Amino acid sequence: MQFDITILGGGLVGLSAGLAFSRLGLKVALIEKHAVSIETQTQDWRSLALSLTSVHFLSHMGIWQKLKKAAQPISMIDVIEKGKFGVVRLDAAKEGLPALGYVVPFALLKSELSQAIHASTITVFEKNTLKAASLENDHWQLQLSAHTSPIQSKLLLAAEGTESVLSQSLGIEFETETYGEEAVVARLQVAHAPIGVALERFAETGPLALLPADKNILTLVWALPKFQVLPLMEMSEQDFLTQVQNEVGFRMGSFKKLLARQTFPLHFHQAKSPVGPRLVLLGNSALSLHPVAGQSFNLALRNVARLHEVIANAVTQKEDFANEATLSAYLAAQKTDVTRTEFFANGLIQLFGNNHLKARMTRRLGFLALTLVPSAKHYVGKFGSGRLTSLAPLSTPPFEGKL
Ligand SMILES: Cc1cc2nc3c(=O)[nH]c(=O)nc-3n(C[C@H](O)[C@H](O)[C@H](O)COP(=O)(O)OP(=O)(O)OC[C@H]3O[C@@H](n4cnc5c(N)ncnc54)[C@H](O)[C@@H]3O)c2cc1C
Repeated sequence: MQFDITILGGGLVGLSAGLAFSRLGLKVALIEKHAVSIETQTQDWRSLALSLTSVHFLSHMGIWQKLKKAAQPISMIDVIEKGKFGVVRLDAAKEGLPALGYVVPFALLKSELSQAIHASTITVFEKNTLKAASLENDHWQLQLSAHTSPIQSKLLLAAEGTESVLSQSLGIEFETETYGEEAVVARLQVAHAPIGVALERFAETGPLALLPADKNILTLVWALPKFQVLPLMEMSEQDFLTQVQNEVGFRMGSFKKLLARQTFPLHFHQAKSPVGPRLVLLGNSALSLHPVAGQSFNLALRNVARLHEVIANAVTQKEDFANEATLSAYLAAQKTDVTRTEFFANGLIQLFGNNHLKARMTRRLGFLALTLVPSAKHYVGKFGSGRLTSLAPLSTPPFEGKL
């Protein structure tokens, strides 16, 4: 079987990329080691903060239209620091935006993307992995684990997440660093939660975010040193609620019920280069950032849109869309955004995540700058909503311009 593009990995990024490329009329295959399930009742309680650029991308794919009833707009983000007075408030209205972003349930987004993949022209090889991959002239020869005959593909996209087996077997180098933390994710029922407000709280022990998930329901993401995670997971519901309340006070309401809690490992993972011969790494395979900045998936979608743009141009000009020139154009298009996003996400952790004197000084200056200098705040508002760098068409509003 011959394909134009084969995507390895059917997580959020592989599914999104599959949809985008199939719309170019290309023959696309998706290989996923598990079932590509449309189940919404998964045990993944993550909420994702989507930037406006991601909402635009998902609108072009027809996915946002199915999500928006369940999406919660973020009209304000309050940034606070434990033990300090004052709040840095990012306000959508002041930025001239309908919202700074939207919060959607991870499981619902994955289910909608999976349904769209099954309804598309994409060939799905589920419960399959790659047994062998070799590059021959102008295509990859791919041997799958549960499909007898090999397949050929002009371009291979690795979207396998941080355990990128393919990329490792191809000798791609990675920088991997543990943050020494895990993320505790919880769904909390709250009395009188403020509407449309998200909170980011920074402390020596680790950053914490509360996102509006539904009416009077918040999703907690709390990154903590590993040794503090187990006691938090094992303590009683009441003790857990009291502990979170003590951390953030009552600005987000009074916590009444713990609906779910789970943990996620956290580490920084970056490929030395996201591009190889007829190969592009996307999503967590290319770069995985700390979730406190809510950027990894948003950045991944902006990059899928950029790759889509350069491939669309090559297809229109009847050129080889997987050759070095096309992939170099993609490399150049994503560079500034990746560098800035990484700087922003890791900068937040370094600024707020430890208590060395230098960091403390910078942190205060950072806070002052954000509070006092409107342009600095404006910069972060623009950044958080993904509007700071040049964008490919799929990251911009669809024709009707409505969300
Ligand atoms: C607690 C938490 C909160 C977050 N919040 C946000 C947020 O608010 N905003 C944001 O932008 N990002 C956020 N993120 C990041 C976001 O969840 C990830 O960026 C995104 O899910 C990564 O998707 P992916 O498809 O790249 O990787 P993955 O989700 O890891 O998917 C990889 C897929 O590849 C498959 N696979 C792996 N190896 C193989 C193989 N060899 N063969 C075939 N298939 C394979 C896997 O089964 C999986 O389906 C958060 C992350 C965490 C942990």
